Amino acid sequence: MDCIFCKIRDGVIPSEKLYEDDDMFVIRDIDPKAAKHYLMIPKRHYKLISDMTDEDAASFARALRKIPALSDKLGLGGGYRLIINQGDDAGQTVFHLHVHILAGQPLDFPDLKK
Ligand code: AMP
Ligand code: ZN
Repeated sequence: MDCIFCKIRDGVIPSEKLYEDDDMFVIRDIDPKAAKHYLMIPKRHYKLISDMTDEDAASFARALRKIPALSDKLGLGGGYRLIINQGDDAGQTVFHLHVHILAGQPLDFPDLKK
């Protein structure tokens, strides 16, 4: 399967994993949209929330709950925003579900009506 996040997971494409456990890993986004921009990537490949099995959902919940514990390491102390893009209108470009973690500055709410 030609998935960039599976290749990073497997070490085929090098990327510094800032944190990793059985459920997920965290890397820096290569094209940051905020002062701090990370990706929390579940280890198992699936594209959409609607593709999640019960086991994936349990794994994802564990992964989400780990983020606050990474606050010092990732510099999230001032607050952070989580974003999951789903499908074309949301601009999803990598079809392996992932959570954007934006932080490190005041985050304006996006003005979407252009
Ligand atoms: P999305 O548009 O929600 O699918 O987000 C995909 C994100 O992956 C984008 O913010 C990209 O900048 C990021 N990205 C793509 N390739 C890499 C990579 N090799 N390492 C880190 N981030 C990446
Ligand atoms: Zn994948």
